[in-house]
Formats: sequence, C-alpha cells, structure tokens
Amino acid sequence: MTTAPQSLRLRLYPDPVLRTRASEVVSIDDDLRARVKRMFEIMYQHRGIGLAAPQVGVSERVFVVNLTGDRRQPGEELVFINPEIRDPRGECVEEEGCLSFPDVRLDVARPELVRIEATDLEGDRFSIDADGWLARCVQHELDHLDGVLFVARVPMQSRLSIRERLQDLERAYGES
Ligand SMILES: [Zn+2]
Repeated sequence: MTTAPQSLRLRLYPDPVLRTRASEVVSIDDDLRARVKRMFEIMYQHRGIGLAAPQVGVSERVFVVNLTGDRRQPGEELVFINPEIRDPRGECVEEEGCLSFPDVRLDVARPELVRIEATDLEGDRFSIDADGWLARCVQHELDHLDGVLFVARVPMQSRLSIRERLQDLERAYGES
C-alpha cells in the first residue's frame, strides 16, 4: 500500500470502499505506522473513539481506538492489526454512531463480551477480554474491515427511520 498518509481523509457513506472487505496486513513497517498516526489524527479531528482503515480509504485490516476520544491521552490509544473476535457472549443494545454516517444514531444489538485478538505495531500478537464500550467499539470497527456497516445491523424499521438522512448523504456524495 503506497497511499501517502497526508492524502488520507474521512470517507462517508455511500463510498464503496466502506462496503469492501479489507485485505490482511502483510508487513508492519514505517508506512503502516504513518498511516496509523494519520488515522488517529482524523479520528480526533472528527471527535470519534474508533476508526477503521476503510474509513480513510485504505482497504487493509487495521483499526484504531481511544475510548476517551482525547488526543491528550495517548496512553489510551489501541491499534488492532489483523484482528479477530472470539467467544462472543451475552447481548446488549446501545446507541451507536459512526464517523462515516454524520448525524446518524441507531440502537444496535451486539454481544456484550468478546475476546479480541490482534497484532500491535511492534508485530506482537495480543488479546483483550473486552466488555462495555470497548467490546462494542471493537465489534463495530471489525465490521468495517468486513465491509459491514452498522445500518445493516438494525431492524428494517430503524433503517426506515433514517432513510431520509441516508438519501441526503447519497446526494452529497454524488455531488462531491
Ligand atoms: Zn463506523
């Protein structure tokens, strides 16, 4: 992947990159570290707590999280490369948003507890038993790597309730 980090920008629905299954990362190098740094910048700029590479137009299996959403707390930054989710348990419904869908909020049901395994920027494999917002966030972001959007995770009735907003986004994308 040769995309210059500075050319990365937030991609909004219905950009087709958001519906594409992302490829495995094969090398953890300085280019990847630069893209990850840029992803955190874009995430903070748009006041998010998680961002997946397809959301900045890069179809690779990487996402970043900082549940505080605060760039002054870099110790809370997490990077997940080639992540996998195991042992989903329970279920809970919470309201979610997505930086690729400005002004859309939806109640989404997801497993309450998951184990997430991934590689970090040093190339080491790690795993976290996640609950609460971390569990929800990593599931939302991992969906992005599979080209699955949160609007596809809600009942038809909820989808209908945001139809006009989606049409606005489609129109804006067509004009961009
Ligand atoms: Zn999202």
